[in-house]
Amino acid sequence: MDDLKNFCCQNKNCPKYGIRGEENIAVRAVYGKNNTRLLWCLHCKKKFSENKGTIFFNSRLPKDQVVSIMEHVAEGNGMRKTGRLTKVGHKTVCRYTKLAGEHAEQLHDELVVFSPQHQGGSVRRKVGLRGKEGKKLRRKQSS
Ligand SMILES: [Zn+2]
Repeated sequence: MDDLKNFCCQNKNCPKYGIRGEENIAVRAVYGKNNTRLLWCLHCKKKFSENKGTIFFNSRLPKDQVVSIMEHVAEGNGMRKTGRLTKVGHKTVCRYTKLAGEHAEQLHDELVVFSPQHQGGSVRRKVGLRGKEGKKLRRKQSS
């Protein structure tokens, strides 16, 4: 079960919360039609679904269909078009797209330590000064 190192404790009160690769996660049981694994934290003993925090959590659709919806949306298809192609309602497509966006945002915040939009204004403006201030600074550095 090498892929368990990609999971982390989902209990916000646990000291191991959000820390991957700590080897504190184990499989407790397997349940449901999709053989979803019930994981548990060996530190705080809380149990959670392997799908928690993803678009598959509490999903009524099979995983393949959800993946298909996301592939269509990623290719730039509209909500109604994707709904027709994957045989679901356009509101379902909207709901999954929103969930995927929220998950992507969480992942972005976790993986990217410093975002260009951090602390208002872009990095480009602060690092590489433009206009008169930049020219003045460059003149001072060159002389
Ligand atoms: Zn825990």
